[in-house]
Amino acid sequence: MLSSNMGVAVINRNAILSLALLVGCSGTTPQLGKPGPGPALPAEAAVAGDSAEKTDAKLPTKDLKITFVDVGEGDAILIQVGDFDALIDTGNQGKWDGQLGRVLESVSGPLEILLLTHPHADHYAQADEVMKALEVERVITNGETRGPPRDEKQKAFFQDYLDAVVAEGVTAEIAVIGPLPSLGIADIEIDVLATGGQYTDGPDGSDINNDSLVLMLTYAGKKVLFAADIEDVAGAQLVAKHCGDTKPCPALNADVLKVPHHGSKHFDQGFFEAVSPRFAVISGGFHNEQHCLPRQESYQALKLLGAKVFSTSAEDNGDVSVVISPDGNMNWDFPDNPVFVWESQKGRKCVGPTVYEQGSGRPAEAAETLKQRPTIENPEVRIGEGGPLPKEEISRVFNNNMNQLRYCYEIQLSTWPDLHGEVVLWLQIGPDGLVKEQRIAKTTLDNQRAQTCMLDVLRTWRFPKPLGGGVVEVTYPVTFGVPTKR
Ligand SMILES: [Zn+2]
Repeated sequence: MLSSNMGVAVINRNAILSLALLVGCSGTTPQLGKPGPGPALPAEAAVAGDSAEKTDAKLPTKDLKITFVDVGEGDAILIQVGDFDALIDTGNQGKWDGQLGRVLESVSGPLEILLLTHPHADHYAQADEVMKALEVERVITNGETRGPPRDEKQKAFFQDYLDAVVAEGVTAEIAVIGPLPSLGIADIEIDVLATGGQYTDGPDGSDINNDSLVLMLTYAGKKVLFAADIEDVAGAQLVAKHCGDTKPCPALNADVLKVPHHGSKHFDQGFFEAVSPRFAVISGGFHNEQHCLPRQESYQALKLLGAKVFSTSAEDNGDVSVVISPDGNMNWDFPDNPVFVWESQKGRKCVGPTVYEQGSGRPAEAAETLKQRPTIENPEVRIGEGGPLPKEEISRVFNNNMNQLRYCYEIQLSTWPDLHGEVVLWLQIGPDGLVKEQRIAKTTLDNQRAQTCMLDVLRTWRFPKPLGGGVVEVTYPVTFGVPTKR
């Protein structure tokens, strides 16, 4: 149940979002970072981060496609626009046939950039395969070499990677805070917000997660934040560095968040609030009982912020992709199969999973029931204590203005063709007939934008003055949508 305070917070959030878009704020204050204290690779050389030529704010002419590839437990994200292709991470070994290999068939010509966020096998162990399959022009890493030596298998993966870089004839670059230089394509900006060398490593190498490359992509006014495997420590540090108390914070605020660390519970709430994504993508394996990812803590925190959450952790092909068109529209393609989310429990690693629909986040088993409902239900008006206003009068105002509510719902249908559910509106009518307060009392529609729009609309409605100058409270449920089969 949403309180009226939350309604206000949502309106503020949207206002800040549109302001950020209007001023075209990329939000970063580039600063030169330090290369990591770990031994630099012989094949690596630091690159200056602030030498990128800023391109004119010319509108792009092509679609940009981002594919979050289902590589099981791991990350692999392909970014494509025209002939330009960049890959962030490669997934673990054994995720080639029918997975990364299949998606890379769409790469035309060379792979311009291979970005490796940190040397954990689920992020880079197929880098050698990528370099065998494609001509790779640039390899950019976080400069870390401290993770792999913790076991023999990891050492072998890392050696394969080093050998592949030599065979490719490239010099791996260590990313430095600031815009990636010499992208070779005018319309994209990729900013490095975090790179390696910041955190000391534990004996099992897990702290390398916090040293992951964090990258912000800007295209056609849309921002996509790739947070690799950072955990709470690095998330909080990014907020401290860029945001102060401002939430959402322009430097980190993004339309899309690649959720850190496969939806682990070790996230920083302030970081999620600073990013306030409209869409969130969790990469992970189907029914991952080994690590029990993604976790409810992370999943629910994103949902509460109003994000539509997708995950590659669906059964079968779990690829999730988005096309950003030159006018900034985003079109999503996501698996039919639902998301499995696990719960943490004291004394046990985890329990579950609970199954949710992709995007809407509704419990998956409820979907069929919801689909049987009519488009608009007959409303039931409940009048509280305080002042008489005939039920018919209230219904008349609702009926006369129902198209405004319907409009709020229908404009979201272009993004969410399956959008449906019930919204219970609550409002208080003052002695002058004006709406004094309004909120969403209950919702299964779960669409912040539609609901914010409805509350904005309600605020403008006029009712007859209640007799005797009292105050009237109304609870009004409306059901939207009979979804089409996707
Ligand atoms: Zn990982």
